[in-house]
Amino acid sequence: FVVLVVAQAIPILPALAALAVLSAATALLLRPYIQDLDDVARFARDLRPEEAPVPALRTDIANDLLTALKLSRREFRTQSEEVAARLKFHETLFDSLPSPILLLDRQRRIIGENAAARKVFGRQQRDRDLAALLRNPDLLDAADQVLAGEPGGAVEFTLPSPANTEYRAMVEPLPRPGPGGAAAVLSLHDITALKRVEQMRADFIANASHELRTPLAALLGFIETLQGPARNDSVAREKFLGIMQQQATRMARLIDDLLSLSRIERTRHVPPTEAVDLALVARHVVDGLGPLAEQTGARLTIDAPAAVVVTGDRDELLRVAENLIENAVKYGGAGDGASPKPVRVRVSAVGARAFFAVNDEGPGIAAEHLPRLTERFYRVDAGDSRRKGGTGLGLAIVKHVLTRHRGRLYVDSRPGEGATFTAEIPLRGDDVLSIK
Ligand code: ADP
Repeated sequence: FVVLVVAQAIPILPALAALAVLSAATALLLRPYIQDLDDVARFARDLRPEEAPVPALRTDIANDLLTALKLSRREFRTQSEEVAARLKFHETLFDSLPSPILLLDRQRRIIGENAAARKVFGRQQRDRDLAALLRNPDLLDAADQVLAGEPGGAVEFTLPSPANTEYRAMVEPLPRPGPGGAAAVLSLHDITALKRVEQMRADFIANASHELRTPLAALLGFIETLQGPARNDSVAREKFLGIMQQQATRMARLIDDLLSLSRIERTRHVPPTEAVDLALVARHVVDGLGPLAEQTGARLTIDAPAAVVVTGDRDELLRVAENLIENAVKYGGAGDGASPKPVRVRVSAVGARAFFAVNDEGPGIAAEHLPRLTERFYRVDAGDSRRKGGTGLGLAIVKHVLTRHRGRLYVDSRPGEGATFTAEIPLRGDDVLSIK
């Protein structure tokens, strides 16, 4: 137009009129497209897509655009739901881990924790420095090193509450920063039970070695004496050989008890199956201990009017009866020459439980010793126990056997008033097949 007007090919007024008509026609033609675009843009801007009204559009191209937009919105929603579900799953997983876990940021602040950590440390730990929670310098050093880019490591420490819990803490760097700036993970593993077992094993080996060394040293001493100064002394030889026999018997007993203990421990998860009459077991042991009772001044009686049948291991139950009755006879006897003191053995059944009780009128046991009596090598008076041929393992064996038999040991005693040891075992049910 401009060229034509300038070249005066067409006059200006008609040209302007034609231009106006052309512009108006174009605007009219484009109007539905502009309105549709406006509607689609408004729809796209709405942040709550479910509530946004779907506009009625006039043009095909805008309809195509709207369809594409709705599709990508649906895809986006599906993916967001999936991400939320995964997040929830990982949170649940994190919370279900039994060990306390803390997330640390670069400044060593706690920025997240799982349910186990909340249980141990409470809920108010967020955004505090790790040092406010755990003051162990080695642990803080390990955390600092990890946050400075060093590889992770483990530190062991004791937390006074709850109840002196021993932990092994592992600090590990995260390969890339987590949500909220998490840079390292601190996990705590309760190793209290493990440490206790370790300690018990070490104590056990030390005790067993000591118990074996004492008679062995005596034996070696007497052998040397018999080879040297007492070589031709027949009186001394007889005396020493007697002592040597005692010491060797003591060692053999100790080894027998140690082997019994380890055998019982090995089978502790295998329930016994035999039908065993505790009354017969008790009678058998009482008969066998008659001579010892005579020596120690004990009057051994038994009250077992009927068969009391349990599901058990006969040999192991014999060891229980032997240990309990022998202890009562050993510790509860009146001594040589004095008028004998009673030791009563009673076997009974009450409800669904069998009871095997041994009562003596000996010196009794002070309350502080009672909870420890079933520990291996625990004795109230070690010298007295050794003199009487004790190994310190009898009640430990009793306890292990009873545990395997789903039973319990009760001790009732006061100093000066004797003692009653009662083993309780479930009676055999209706499935009694045969009585051994
Ligand atoms: P030991 O071989 O020393 O007898 P046990 O494990 O059988 O070992 O018993 C542990 C300790 O318990 C004994 O050393 C003794 O001090 C005490 N004890 C056990 N039975 C009696 C009892 N009837 N009267 C007094 N003390 C007892």
